[in-house]
Amino acid sequence: MDNNLKSAIVTGGASGIGKATAMMLAERGYHVWAGDIQITDATQSDFAERDIQFRHCDVRNEQHVIGLISSAATATGRIDLLVNNAGVGMVKAITDVASDEWDLCLDTNLKAAFLTCKYTIPYMAPDGGSIVNIASNAGLLPRAHDPVYSISKAALIALTKSLALCHSVDKIRVNCVCPGPVGDTGMINADIAAATDPAAFRESLINASPLARASQRMISPREVATTVVYLASEDSQMITGTAVAIDGGKSLGVPPDVPAEQ
Ligand code: NAD
Repeated sequence: MDNNLKSAIVTGGASGIGKATAMMLAERGYHVWAGDIQITDATQSDFAERDIQFRHCDVRNEQHVIGLISSAATATGRIDLLVNNAGVGMVKAITDVASDEWDLCLDTNLKAAFLTCKYTIPYMAPDGGSIVNIASNAGLLPRAHDPVYSISKAALIALTKSLALCHSVDKIRVNCVCPGPVGDTGMINADIAAATDPAAFRESLINASPLARASQRMISPREVATTVVYLASEDSQMITGTAVAIDGGKSLGVPPDVPAEQ
């Protein structure tokens, strides 16, 4: 056991924002455990190069969560960082959502964070640690096209703030990030592929964020990972309970098509 290593767990760590976060943490010297329900050969080889440990872990399964957390804790004696990143989208009107679809979305996006926090906090207290939840722009501003997803992310922001209050006594900081549309992720790639006009849909995602529109590009997974790494670091020691929007200004609510003179 090497007590000098900082250990980090990233759920949903094999793709998109989670993979970018796992890779950046490994570059910064963390010993990283990534849990996911799938992994590609390319990601497996990227992880092997950086000594990132992969564990099959369905975050809806309590025993899988316990297994992931205890592997990390056994290797380093404690856990310094937990990133609750695993998530699924749910684009449907509430009248069309089946109760098992509600469970899939809420169990993955919210209940999993309860389970990981429940089993990780004892490995952080009383010396401190950091928990970063990947919420969403949808949790700051609920949307008409994905109410169940919006609800799950708003509740994740509430969980973040509640646990920040409860565990400040243990010097455990709990924050979340709220990305807008992030390119090169499984979630957004699937939405673009399913659109009737994928190119126009991608353009509309860019245009929804004032800064993304001005830069004519989407937010990148590494830009989200950079904020997660900052929230985990000693540079953010007095930051807890925040919900950081990484959305190019989307949550300011400025309609992107209003001309400047209006
Ligand atoms: P992604 O599809 O690339 O990554 C999600 C990962 O979660 C995948 O690897 C998937 O296998 C994993 N996962 C799904 N269900 C799981 C389960 N039950 N157990 C373990 N792993 C599971 O998409 P992403 O955009 O990188 O998503 C990461 C997080 O970012 C999600 O929580 C998502 O809601 C959030 N987010 C994404 C965007 C975006 O535009 N892509 C915007 C805001 C928030």
